[in-house]
Amino acid sequence: MKTIGLLGGMSWESTRDYYTAINRGIKERLGGLHSARLVLYSVDFAEIEQLQHQGDWAGTARILMKAAQRVEAGGADFLLICTNTMHKVAPEVEAALKIPLVHLADATAEKLLHAGCRKVGLLGTAFTMEQDFYKGRLKDKYGLDVLVPEAQERAEIHRVIYEELCQGEIKDASRQVFVDSIQRLAAEGAEAVILGCTEIALLVSQQDTKVPLFDTTAIHAEMAVELALATDPAVG
Ligand code: GLU
Repeated sequence: MKTIGLLGGMSWESTRDYYTAINRGIKERLGGLHSARLVLYSVDFAEIEQLQHQGDWAGTARILMKAAQRVEAGGADFLLICTNTMHKVAPEVEAALKIPLVHLADATAEKLLHAGCRKVGLLGTAFTMEQDFYKGRLKDKYGLDVLVPEAQERAEIHRVIYEELCQGEIKDASRQVFVDSIQRLAAEGAEAVILGCTEIALLVSQQDTKVPLFDTTAIHAEMAVELALATDPAVG
């Protein structure tokens, strides 16, 4: 089994779900007392959040590059950045490493294409919904057509992520905001909706809607399990 590297703490509410899902996945595949070989570096999210909202992405990149190198030095064979938003600086992090980076947008796009979806909705932070680092990769590399909610809705979704979900607060009223948004994206033609923020599945689940949901935390964790158990020498 290879050693999985996790760059987490963004927020720790979702990193906990990565840890659980990865260990469950390994146990399902290997049984008994098996659990994941894993190195986790968990950052102080307050620092990252402040830099994000100041637009100091270079500052966030410096923190994540250093943290990623520590994960590599700890023996990881590949790295996952446990947040969609911070894939904004994935190229810098990747360039600072010798081990491969398992990009969340790639893992998600592959799942969507496999399910036959071409037109998809995307929920996430304003950074993820509005900028090109994530949407652009889905479009340019995989030919996906990506729809996002309108401006006011995006602002509310962004607020709920930082003020509630990343702080462990789960509110029914906020769930309704997300579900309404998912329904609207489906009405506009989305065949599925990407939960493109690693905390959204804390609030919304497939039981809340008939629209197929693609939870990026679960998809990324599943990919990590597959790679950890693969015999393919390309990773690790
Ligand atoms: N975990 C979130 C994401 O997947 C948001 C927190 C962050 O800004 O990293 O985008």
